[in-house]
Amino acid sequence: MADLIDGKVISKQIKDELKEKVAALKKEGIEICLAVIQVGNDTASTVYVGNKKKACEYVGINSVSYELPEETTEEELISLIDRLNSDSAINGILVQLPLPKHIDEDTVIKRISPDKDVDGFHPESVGRLSIGQRGFVSCTPAGIIELLKRSDIEIEGKECVVIGRSNIVGKPMAMLLLRENATVTVCHSRTKNLKEICKRADILVVAIGKPKMIDASYVKEGAAVIDVGIHRNENNKLCGDVDFDSVSKVAGKITPVPGGVGPMTIAMLMNNCVEAAIMNE
Ligand code: NAD
Repeated sequence: MADLIDGKVISKQIKDELKEKVAALKKEGIEICLAVIQVGNDTASTVYVGNKKKACEYVGINSVSYELPEETTEEELISLIDRLNSDSAINGILVQLPLPKHIDEDTVIKRISPDKDVDGFHPESVGRLSIGQRGFVSCTPAGIIELLKRSDIEIEGKECVVIGRSNIVGKPMAMLLLRENATVTVCHSRTKNLKEICKRADILVVAIGKPKMIDASYVKEGAAVIDVGIHRNENNKLCGDVDFDSVSKVAGKITPVPGGVGPMTIAMLMNNCVEAAIMNE
């Protein structure tokens, strides 16, 4: 049976380390503040925003919320972002996605100052990552690197396969693994021989968005398997893109859902807020 990679425990370690850093910064007179913007009242978004605010409170980061009505125009949202960009008391700006259909997400993401882009979605942040410069990194893949490192899983020189090529998970994940000197293959919906490619992986990162698609037949004996997916199954219980019961019999290490990658995303958002405050000092 595979060992569990416990995202709850590791994310708590990270938040506790950040709590100390934030307290030390406070002593030097540096307060950190995250602005969280939500447009409309999508239930899942409300839960995510609530969890982010709770994490801020735990770590000692101030947060200000902007809960805007569904009918908010793109111009109104942009003008709020402009105001927050020029407010020196705000270190990070987070716009909860998805936005209502009448607002263009790319335009909004591009408007956030790259210095306050704690989600790491701005094209400048993505560009910095791809050319190896310092900048904000998308929180989910950054959290996966921490999970691997803190579970003593060696990355350098390993065969890593990432399934999924989204801008927020798959692509930055591949870049980060490359930065750690892994040999990286990215698979997607048009990949041929998916199973054979996955079976080569020492580290398999699964970000497909299809419940329980990856079973033991895709996994090399002893591999580390990271499940990014989040779904509700037929009994309304959370499950991932990986069939945990099947894969845990062959993998060496595996993340559960819930309690694997999910909690890491928020911990890394907190990390980015602290980085933002230090960077702009
Ligand atoms: P996405 O839908 O943007 O991308 C999915 C990717 O999977 C695409 O690149 C597609 O090419 C690939 N894909 C789809 N079907 C495939 C198939 N049959 N074979 C191979 N590849 C296939 O999704 P995303 O935003 O990257 O998210 C992926 C999953 O991770 C979702 O379940 C999402 O809810 C979850 N997620 C979790 C967190 C977290 O904090 N845990 C954060 C972001 C996303």
